[in-house]
Amino acid sequence: MIQQTLSIIKPDAVERNLVENIKEIFSNNKLKILKTKKIQVTKEEASDFYKVHQTKPFYDKLCSYLSSGPIVVMVLEGENAIEENRKLMGATDPKNADEGTIRKKYGISIDKNSVHGSDSPDNAKKEINFFFKN
Ligand code: UDP
Ligand code: MG
Repeated sequence: MIQQTLSIIKPDAVERNLVENIKEIFSNNKLKILKTKKIQVTKEEASDFYKVHQTKPFYDKLCSYLSSGPIVVMVLEGENAIEENRKLMGATDPKNADEGTIRKKYGISIDKNSVHGSDSPDNAKKEINFFFKN
C-alpha cells in the first residue's frame, strides 16, 4: 500500500550538515520526498508534537532538544512508507541500531538520534497535518 509518513531531521543532524546525506538515503530507498521545509519550533510546539510522551521521564529534555535548533520536516511517500522509514532509521538508541541504518551511521546518543519517523498510519496523518496544514 502506498503510504505517506512524516520524517524529521533533528537538530544534531542539521547542525552537522547531514540533511542531503539523509535525503539521499530516502530517495535511494524508494521513499519520495513530497514536501520538505527547514524550520525551528518553539518549546511549546515541540511539547505539543511530542505530547504522547508527556508522562515519560525524558519528555522535558526531548522537547527542549527538538526546539534547540533548526530541523527539516518532510513528507515521505512510498510502498509501506511508515514501516520502510522506521527500518531505514534503525532502533531509537543508536547503540542498538543495525548496521547501515541512519541512526547507526549518524546518531550520537538516544536523545541525539538524528531522525524522527511516524510509527503508525494514525500518527502519520496527525504528524503530517501538524507540520503541513493546508
Ligand atoms: N528518547 C530519549 N530517551 C529515552 C527514550 C526516547 O531521549 O529513553 C527520545 C529519543 O530521541 C526518541 C524520542 O524520545 O527518538 C521519542 O521516543 P520514541 O520511543 O517514540 O522513539 P522513536 O519513535 O523516535 O524511535
Ligand atoms: Mg516514536
